[in-house]
Amino acid sequence: MRRLNEKDLERLVRRLKDIVSDDYVSTSLFERIRCGLDVYPYAVQREKLPYVIVLPEAASQISEIMRVANEFRVPVYVRGSGTSLAGASRYKFPGIVINTHRMDALEFFEDYGFAECEPGCICYDVMKAFEERGAFLPVAPGSKVIASMGGLLSNNTSAHIIDASIGKFSDFVLGVEAVLPTGEIIETGTKGLRRPSGTDLTKFFVGGDGLLGVITKARIRLVPTFFKAHGYAVYEELDALARAVQRMYMEHRPMPLYMEFMEKETASIGYEIKGMSPPPGSVIFFVAIGASQQEAEDKLDLILQSLKKEEPLEARHISDLNEWEKLWSAREVIGSFIMQKNESQFSSAEIVSNLKDLPACMEDVRHFNEGLPLLSQLKLYLFGHIGSLTMHPGVLIPRDWDDASFRKAVVEKFTRETALNLKYGTCGGEWGQFAHRADFFRQRYGETGYNMVRQFKAVVDPNNILNRGVLEGNLPVD
Ligand SMILES: Cc1cc2nc3c(=O)[nH]c(=O)nc-3n(C[C@H](O)[C@H](O)[C@H](O)COP(=O)(O)OP(=O)(O)OC[C@H]3O[C@@H](n4cnc5c(N)ncnc54)[C@H](O)[C@@H]3O)c2cc1C
Repeated sequence: MRRLNEKDLERLVRRLKDIVSDDYVSTSLFERIRCGLDVYPYAVQREKLPYVIVLPEAASQISEIMRVANEFRVPVYVRGSGTSLAGASRYKFPGIVINTHRMDALEFFEDYGFAECEPGCICYDVMKAFEERGAFLPVAPGSKVIASMGGLLSNNTSAHIIDASIGKFSDFVLGVEAVLPTGEIIETGTKGLRRPSGTDLTKFFVGGDGLLGVITKARIRLVPTFFKAHGYAVYEELDALARAVQRMYMEHRPMPLYMEFMEKETASIGYEIKGMSPPPGSVIFFVAIGASQQEAEDKLDLILQSLKKEEPLEARHISDLNEWEKLWSAREVIGSFIMQKNESQFSSAEIVSNLKDLPACMEDVRHFNEGLPLLSQLKLYLFGHIGSLTMHPGVLIPRDWDDASFRKAVVEKFTRETALNLKYGTCGGEWGQFAHRADFFRQRYGETGYNMVRQFKAVVDPNNILNRGVLEGNLPVD
């Protein structure tokens, strides 16, 4: 791709400053590196660094930026917090980065039954504001203190929440305002509480991998908070744990809101940090929900009935919320703790099983890194959202590896992830479908499926301005 020459770059920057003012346009090398990095360990390449970072405050400004970008034929990358685990925030070409963090308004319309948030709002802040009003935000990622609502909406992740319990994030999004890659602003969906039947434009944006437009506002239904009951089970063998979860589904138990798991050795790390004795086996812990405390406890009993049939070492209610908090945070801190302790970079995959093959898939993820030239040299850690049949096998990539090895390690991880999700006929349910997963998408849905998306994009984005490279794939071999 042709780089902008100095003169054109100067003209571009001037035009952007005219839109958002001098204060909100940066060409500093520091800012360009910061906004060109993602969570992966390999180095940024100078020739791929963004030209310029822009912080708009309104959809109308994004619209103007898009029009200018089309004029200059320069790609635009939308950036929330840059925590994408699918590689969507490591850009393949130099371009304009729109940082959404100035757009952080959150407004409640309780008499309509929804709230509207801008893309730069941080998930945790929105969660807390919902809680203060007795509402539940239907998205709960491990990155909640940093991830932006725009990033989460673009991925359509409900994260730790089990889809089969209350649905996916998009089920609660009544509509969005979005700026198309050519600059038009559109509104989708409804102000009612019933989402459209038939064609619903919202779906092109929520779960759209940032390919078809910039979400500038989302209308989210206010779901009343639930009463919760908490449970815990420990299994000597992972196979029994997998069969217990299968049973929960097969025996039509009320689906828990959350059901997390940690393999024994991985769990011991989290337990140690939280000052608990190591568990005697691999653990699962879960939350049943109801409209009253009694209903939640009754549902928990029903779940436990299934789990107990696979001979756990222990399976019970958790009545002490402190114990629950310790377990939950033990699970959440494992990654960052082992990274700090070992001065390494934690990197995990997202393997999703189908229901029938869960025990076999569990066995496969236990051996996730076997046979891989680089990753097999590293110790495997294993945890995940077992209620969603999702496993996150991960490794610590040593900081002293060279850049070429970092790159190869990331490619190995995604190649094995692809193989396993293809084997089980599934797909990632959290981090989005493109960027490092473009090859997966092509294999899973064929060239016909992939071309459908390419053609949608070509119609909406004829100059391939928005998030260029994400659809084409940007594994670090490219
Ligand atoms: C420690 C850690 C834990 C994590 N835990 C989870 C987890 O439990 N579950 C989970 O699903 N993910 C998890 N993630 C991944 C990540 O946080 C999510 O994918 C999140 O959705 C990304 O948000 P972001 O603001 O960082 O988006 P970014 O990385 O900035 O962007 C992600 C994609 O969304 C697009 N995008 C951003 N804003 C907009 C917008 N306004 N309009 C259109 N497109 C937009 C970007 O262009 C890009 O393609 C985790 C990441 C880390 C580092």
